[in-house]
Amino acid sequence: MKKKTLGLYLHIPFCLSKCRYCDFCSYPAMAAETKHAYTMALIKELSSRAEAAKDYVVDTVFFGGGTPTCLDTDDLLRLADCIQSRYRLSDGVEWTSEANPATVDKDKLRAMRACGFNRISLGMQSAHDSELSLLGRAHRTSDLYQAREAIHEAGFTNLNLDLMFGIPAQTVDSFDRSLDEALALEPTHVSVYSLQIEEGTPFYREQNTLALPSEDEEREMAALLYRKTEAAGYRRYEISNFAKPGHESRHNLRYWRMQDYLGFGIAAHSCFEGERFYNREELAAYLKEPCELCEQEETLTAREREYETVMLGLRLSDGIDEEDFLRTFGYGFYEKYKRRLMRFCEAGFATFDGKRTALTESGMAVSNAILAEILED
Ligand code: SF4
Repeated sequence: MKKKTLGLYLHIPFCLSKCRYCDFCSYPAMAAETKHAYTMALIKELSSRAEAAKDYVVDTVFFGGGTPTCLDTDDLLRLADCIQSRYRLSDGVEWTSEANPATVDKDKLRAMRACGFNRISLGMQSAHDSELSLLGRAHRTSDLYQAREAIHEAGFTNLNLDLMFGIPAQTVDSFDRSLDEALALEPTHVSVYSLQIEEGTPFYREQNTLALPSEDEEREMAALLYRKTEAAGYRRYEISNFAKPGHESRHNLRYWRMQDYLGFGIAAHSCFEGERFYNREELAAYLKEPCELCEQEETLTAREREYETVMLGLRLSDGIDEEDFLRTFGYGFYEKYKRRLMRFCEAGFATFDGKRTALTESGMAVSNAILAEILED
């Protein structure tokens, strides 16, 4: 019988400083004692859920945040040790840590590599110090190049770089340069998102004064991105994610395919055995009693589940598998939405090969409009 697989997500809510666009659950410049106490609370929570996961093989582990590498090396190793001793890991487990370029050095990375981490996701964002400064990032480009070197020397061969476009004062040329610099660092994976102005952030309050690129400029940046990543051998396997063959993020694919994962730490979400739950964002309470913050999410209706499956599935270049959809909902996706989908196929926005429905590149460019039309009642 095929073993059930599971992903683990650990939320580390600490950063060197707070970026001006950030609405993630993250605390800048926390004391070392608080970070250590949080590590011990995570270990308690990880241990408490291990029994429920005993029939699963963990094939992805993801340390996200925040900035996981803000933790001391010893605390990172404690967490790795707890995961290895309490959970059954697959031989080829994908084990990622997000990192800010200013928070890693060779020693820390070597220790992480030795205890099981095998993938680093580095928040590069831009190759221009002026743009990094405007974003309120804690690192500069010199940190990025040093971090890249250290990642290589520590033996990591699997590297993601996060880039942003739509940054204040960014031009098509400056994005082009950032992209070239990113690709020259030879990552196996690139994630590129456009800046979102979120309520409650400094950027939200200042939005009228931010010199944001125009929509036309953003379109040009996106076109450059698709052309250059493709020429460099990356496949756009998700709307915003590009990977060399075999280096797609298996952990993120879990989210997009709605497969099981358990989240640990404040603000972490879980999707496990048909249930969804999350930990409240209360750092002080978590430090006292980490297993008491869990809240159940409302169970999705069949319609909501279908909606989410379609929204996430059509972000992937592999699209939606007719058989999988049939097994989950009792009818095929193409079969149900054939009349609407045929129109998009004829117009070159989607394809259906008898097994899968997927958006084409031009379809991905207008995916929101397509999804709204497909899913309208
Ligand atoms: S590094 Fe990431 S999580 Fe931390 S403040 Fe910046 S955007 Fe937020």
